[in-house]
Amino acid sequence: MSDQRLAAGVDLGGTKIYSLVADSEGHVLGEDRRPTNAALGVDSVVERIVASVRAALEHADLEFADVEGLGISTPGPCDPARGLISEAPNLGWIDVPLVELVRKKVGIRTLLENDAAAAAYGEMRFGAARGKQHVLYVTLGTGIGGGIIIDGRIYRGASGAAGEVGHLVLEPDGALCNCGARGCLEALASGTAIAREAQKAIADGRSVTMAGIAGDRGVTGEIVLEAAERGDAVAEEIIRRAGRYLGLGLVGLLNTFNPEALILGGGLVGLGDLYLGPAFAAARECGFEQILNDVTMTTAELGGRSGALGAAALITDRQPA
Ligand SMILES: [Zn+2]
Repeated sequence: MSDQRLAAGVDLGGTKIYSLVADSEGHVLGEDRRPTNAALGVDSVVERIVASVRAALEHADLEFADVEGLGISTPGPCDPARGLISEAPNLGWIDVPLVELVRKKVGIRTLLENDAAAAAYGEMRFGAARGKQHVLYVTLGTGIGGGIIIDGRIYRGASGAAGEVGHLVLEPDGALCNCGARGCLEALASGTAIAREAQKAIADGRSVTMAGIAGDRGVTGEIVLEAAERGDAVAEEIIRRAGRYLGLGLVGLLNTFNPEALILGGGLVGLGDLYLGPAFAAARECGFEQILNDVTMTTAELGGRSGALGAAALITDRQPA
């Protein structure tokens, strides 16, 4: 067994719970995955979080008393200081005192952190931004989120909602965003945006290839990528365009924060150069030279573990909630 200090970390998602126990160097000693079953309600999800952490500990021959605490990475806006999930649409939760509910059952220090912020912290401690103090992490999936780290600490803003980088408005008359505004980065560069543009192209008869691959299934980013790889120019342009918009969003972030590292994570990173190439190119073209000289722009290294590892590291680093 490791003689390092230990913590448990949980990544609570809308569909699955991922738990791990790790030492302060980020070595994973045990892990567990199970469905969230969010429809069964808060109490049931709390039971499943506790059972999942217990299983991860058992894989490492440990129990709750052997770890310094439990960090939980949670989706959507939250209030770490009060241990509250303010709003988690994919769990159907509003104002759930998750920390209190879990701590009562596990009997150890428990904290929560927004998933993008936790992932940013994980990448800073153990991943692509190791050794850096000023880090931006942008997660690219059906939505776009972000984590901001300044001087080695998560920046949460006045009420814990900082980092909503997906809602930088780039096109005032652009596509409608989930937040109600128009032309947000998320409405132009996310997986949802790519799928929407592909759907339009199929409906307009502009891409027989995409229509053929999609068939009766809904259009996803992977389908657009597959069509692009088969030489479909419309599919390729949809991904490139989303990448260029992403780059414009990144320019704003780079010029505002002057970070040492800008890390891109999430499922859309799998679109590869077709998406990331135009994004990094736009950032390099429009960013300030001094800022570009100091920043490493790259993709995340910890994959699906970044949030849980970051949440665990907040415990072993004794960061305040
Ligand atoms: Zn928005």
